[in-house]
Amino acid sequence: MDCIFCKIVEGTIPSKKVFENDHVVAFHDIQPAAPVHMLIIPKKHIAAMNDVAEEDLPLIGEIHQAALQIAREQGVAESGYRLINNCGKDSGQVVFHLHYHLLGGEKLGALNA
Ligand code: 5GP
Ligand code: ZN
Repeated sequence: MDCIFCKIVEGTIPSKKVFENDHVVAFHDIQPAAPVHMLIIPKKHIAAMNDVAEEDLPLIGEIHQAALQIAREQGVAESGYRLINNCGKDSGQVVFHLHYHLLGGEKLGALNA
């Protein structure tokens, strides 16, 4: 499958990983929009939030758990951070492998910017 994030999971495309367990990987966004900008993804290929099935719900919990751990490790848990999922055309989703942006390290702009 021609999916850039599956290739990052496999290691055939390099990334700066900050977290990995059996089901979840997180790495630095290649074009950071904030001082802390990580992408948190399931290893399983799920194209978008619209495709999250009931059986995937524990995975979403693991992603949230990973996000909290990363926020703490990156030193933004107390100052504040944002966890964003873009789903579909109007959101600007460009990579169709489910991912959550973790942003922080500065005062973030308006949500709809
Ligand atoms: P989306 O708009 O789909 O929610 O965001 C996709 C994100 O993936 C963008 O912020 C983009 O900078 C990031 N990205 C795209 N290709 C790569 C890549 O090859 N490596 C990494 N680390 N990030 C990528
Ligand atoms: Zn994929």
